[in-house]
Amino acid sequence: MKKVYLGVGHGGRDSGAVGYIVEKDVNLQIALACKEYLEENGIDVKISRTSDIDKELTQRINECNTYNPDLAIDIHNNAGGGDGFEVYHAINGGTGKVLAQNIEEEIKAIGQNSRGLKTKKGNNGDYFGFIRCIKCPSIITETVFVDNQADASQADELHEQRAFGQAIAKGILKTLGISNNATVGKNETVQTTKSIDEIAKEVINNKWDVQPRRKQLLEQAGYNYEEVQNKVNEILLGKKTTVNKKSNEQIADEVIAGKWDVQPKREQLLRAEGYDYNAIQKIVNQKLR
Ligand SMILES: [Zn+2]
Repeated sequence: MKKVYLGVGHGGRDSGAVGYIVEKDVNLQIALACKEYLEENGIDVKISRTSDIDKELTQRINECNTYNPDLAIDIHNNAGGGDGFEVYHAINGGTGKVLAQNIEEEIKAIGQNSRGLKTKKGNNGDYFGFIRCIKCPSIITETVFVDNQADASQADELHEQRAFGQAIAKGILKTLGISNNATVGKNETVQTTKSIDEIAKEVINNKWDVQPRRKQLLEQAGYNYEEVQNKVNEILLGKKTTVNKKSNEQIADEVIAGKWDVQPKREQLLRAEGYDYNAIQKIVNQKLR
């Protein structure tokens, strides 16, 4: 099994660059989406952090070398008033340079301009520790400039951050010679060929995660969430309804009145309609107490 290490730049007390967006937070969302995408393709991924904690560069380097991956990527965003994506690889090129090229290609494919592949020389070879001290091919990606309003606005929403993470993942997969089997990726690439009926059936078969991720994924793939969810309701309940027109309390009353079947079907139906099952059940419990 191929192994990839994802370093998430900054975190905790170290926010990284701060401008129109905060680097440490954007880095994390990009990295998490990248990890998810790689794992869907059978890659073993180690990530330096999954929440807002401190993990210094030296710790990331040691952790990475212990893990001994095939490739390592440190995920950052830039500052200094430029515009566009940048990627640093080792002066000696090699697989790291190929990886940088493959990622750059995917980043450009989602509409971000590139300032190109870069190297930086220090007194002791490569300037950046992540590139100099890591034993496997390693690179540093800089997605957008946080202090350039127009550039930063391309990564100020979660779906945009996730798209960058997926683009990085695609470049990694290409470098590893692995064809893309991710559910998310497939849905994205064949979006225009699937009918609302087909997508609704996929939702019912749990291929589109649960709320609130489902809405996000569907919209990211270009579908109208309400339209899909109405179709899901139509299939599951055999009638036309509208999404989320009722309050949790109204639904709780319906649950008590027996309109939502019994468990475990109830939870399934409520979730399929986009309702927060736990919140509703809490109200039901309060009302019945
Ligand atoms: Zn940084």
